[in-house]
Amino acid sequence: MTTSPPPELKNIQEFLFEAPLYKKYSTTSAVLRSLYTISAGNSRRIDGHCPYCNRSSTFVITKVHVPNPEHRHDISRRTCLSESVTITCARSDTHKIMYFFRKIDMVVEKIGQHPSLADIANDEVAQYRKTMAKLDAQEFHKAIGLAAHGVGVGSFVYLRRVFERLITNRFEEFKSAEGWDNSRFYAARMEDKITLLQDHLPDFLVRNRKIYSILSVGVHALDEKDCLKWFDVMKQSILIILEDDKKKKEELARRELFSQAIERFEAKSENSS
Ligand SMILES: [Zn+2]
Repeated sequence: MTTSPPPELKNIQEFLFEAPLYKKYSTTSAVLRSLYTISAGNSRRIDGHCPYCNRSSTFVITKVHVPNPEHRHDISRRTCLSESVTITCARSDTHKIMYFFRKIDMVVEKIGQHPSLADIANDEVAQYRKTMAKLDAQEFHKAIGLAAHGVGVGSFVYLRRVFERLITNRFEEFKSAEGWDNSRFYAARMEDKITLLQDHLPDFLVRNRKIYSILSVGVHALDEKDCLKWFDVMKQSILIILEDDKKKKEELARRELFSQAIERFEAKSENSS
């Protein structure tokens, strides 16, 4: 069996805040040294989301534990199955994230971390999830959890469901007012559904309707690695769409409220004249 060599790890920020568990990376001595050296003063700050501050922050490496392996001082030859590193948030000494690594020669993988990558990633989008419908929030949560565990295709399935639900809900809301036909809508391709609904959908979605094809290609044809590579772009796009959609709905509701008020005034003045 031939296996392709692991991808190269270029910086520790990506490894600590994006890499799922058990994903192997080949790396260089310089990167390894920066991973296993306690930060002195303000040096080597690592940017990432702090799940305790609930916002993005910077971290420094505050604790490194390497049990006594052979070649302890030769980082490129050292093999160690249970190394740990703790990083601490610049805003508070109590905000810590702890990692466990397995390192064999120049290949390193994360084998544990607390809080989990899924918890950190979900905390990062918690403010958006608060405003989502319950089912959207649940499925968005699942998508992020799956991506954090290296399941790319599965994460796309959930994002696609959130997207489809938005389109279907919008159709159901406006179909009687617009006189749209149920069977024609449900048989149509997504592209045509978006064209039909475009006046009632966020502009970003209408302009970037390709998002749906990317999600569909992901589900049917891309491999796990490509889906994971595209996951963040898809996740951020869905967030923009949901935010825009919320604003659009609020704006429509506000307009409706005021037109009703104005109509009431007209009715009253007609009665009194
Ligand atoms: Zn913090």
